[in-house]
This record gives sequence, structure tokens and C-alpha cells, in this order.
Amino acid sequence: MIQTVNGKIDAKDLGITMCHEHFIIDLSKVRGEDDSTLQDTKLMLKEVEKLKALGCQAVVEVTANDMGRDVIKLREISKAAGLHIIASTGFYLAPYHPKWLQESTIEDLKALFKKEITEGIEGTGIKAGIIGEVATSKNKILQTEEKVLRAAARASKELDCAVSTHCDMGTMGNEQVELMLSEGAHPDKLILGHIDLVSDILYHKGILEKGVNLAFDTIGKTKYLTDEKRADHLFALLDAGYEDHLLLSQDVSRKSYLCSYGGKGYTAVLGYFIDLLKERGISKPQLDKMLIHNPARILDRAC
Ligand SMILES: [Zn+2]
Repeated sequence: MIQTVNGKIDAKDLGITMCHEHFIIDLSKVRGEDDSTLQDTKLMLKEVEKLKALGCQAVVEVTANDMGRDVIKLREISKAAGLHIIASTGFYLAPYHPKWLQESTIEDLKALFKKEITEGIEGTGIKAGIIGEVATSKNKILQTEEKVLRAAARASKELDCAVSTHCDMGTMGNEQVELMLSEGAHPDKLILGHIDLVSDILYHKGILEKGVNLAFDTIGKTKYLTDEKRADHLFALLDAGYEDHLLLSQDVSRKSYLCSYGGKGYTAVLGYFIDLLKERGISKPQLDKMLIHNPARILDRAC
């Protein structure tokens, strides 16, 4: 079963899924600007309508505890739009961590994640369906980030729950995997995020060799890398036999990315990227795995 903000669903009912998005988020306390604040459910519903019109049925909303998460608003959006939304428990990059996290133990954090998965989030009764997005900084892992990752891995092991990560600018992927596997997490429950920002196919393959999953989750963010280049990398990984371990998404976290503000919104993957893949000869089963079957398998657990 898969835990959504509206209760459990059968994994086979999940449908086309974006694996790493944000609908309600507030990163302004660190970034100091309003662009990283998405709080308006009406505005979001307009954006979600466009995504749904392209056939999307589910979104993994990876806004962690310290990123302005609001699961009540997520449930409102889910109900109004008729979209499955999977909410998260976790902590993001160190600058966002609450002060108390310095003193807490790995076991304390594990207990919090488990509570939000099995009992609910902040008294709402709405349960998290994934641990995410747990993060590491660019080219380093800070002390509290390591604690969060270890706790996430332990909770994942005990509850068979998926973990979604943030690799800052795509870095530290191997270190994240080693750390979480050393805590006993099952590799197929791990989704490494933002690795597609690194234009290095050997790096991608090295991580996939460990049995984990890679999210190509910054589709449409072409100031970092062209989508054509992302497609090149994706085909290289498909040719190498990794079709069961790839997922797609856009990671929209700013107003300026939204269609309402002149951006691509949540539509880059289904609006044009899959056409690019089809032109280059991707098969329907391969596409269905990345969009439907891989997210469903990874999120599915006895709950
Ligand atoms: Zn994100």
C-alpha cells in the first residue's frame, strides 16, 4: 500500500507520478527572498490542473519538516484536484535545521520520522508516505545532516519506507548511499535526488551499481544543464540496463518556475521531455517504468 495525504491506496492505483516536487514550501528564512515561498493553495491548484491535464495522477511532495511543510494544505490540494499526494517527514540542509537538532540523537530523529509515518504529522492524523528530502551540502556532509541521513536509513529499515534525498548540485551521491546502507537501509528504498545535475555518466552508473534509484528530478531547469543532455544521460543508463531504477520529476520550489509567473511549472516532464525521449526511440514499457511502475514499487509497503 502507499500512504497518501488522503489515506492508503493500492500501489497499482498510483498512476503516473512525479517523484520530487513541492506545492507548499517556505525557504525564505534562509534564502531571504519571497520567490522560494509557495503558500497559496488556489494558485497551486491552477498549476496542478495543468499537470493533471497531461495525465499525472500522483506527486511525491518532498517538503521536509523544516521547509515550511503544511500537510493540511496538501490535503486540500489533493482533494480539490483529485491528485494523489504523498507527504514527507525529514529534515533538509543544515542551515534549515531547527536548533534542537544539534542535541538530538539519531534515535530521537528516527522516532520522530517513525511517528510521522505511523501516527501522523503534528496532530493532523495525516501520515507521511516517504522520508524526504533529506539532504547533504555541496561537496560535504555536515554533522546534523549525517545524523538525519542515519536516522532516515534506520526508520526506512524498520518500516520499509522509501527515502528521497537532496544531493546539493548533485554532489555526495556515493557518500549518501554508503552512509544509509551502513545503517541497514535496503538500496531499492533509496531515491537519490538531483544527481541529474552532474554531467558525468560514470558517476551516475557508479551510484546505480549499488542497487539504489536515481531521480532525474530537475527536468526543465536548463540554466544548469540542457534537457537534451539529460536525455543523453538517461539513454546511456537505459542502454546499461537501469530502466527499473530511474524516475522523473521537476523539483519546482520557486514562484518564478510556475506557469503563472512565466515558467514551465510542473509540466516539463509530461509537456515536452517525454516527447524528446519518444523521438529518440524510448519504448513505452521503459517510459511506463520511469513514470509509473518504479515509483509505485519503491513507495509500496505494508502499512
Ligand atoms: Zn526538492
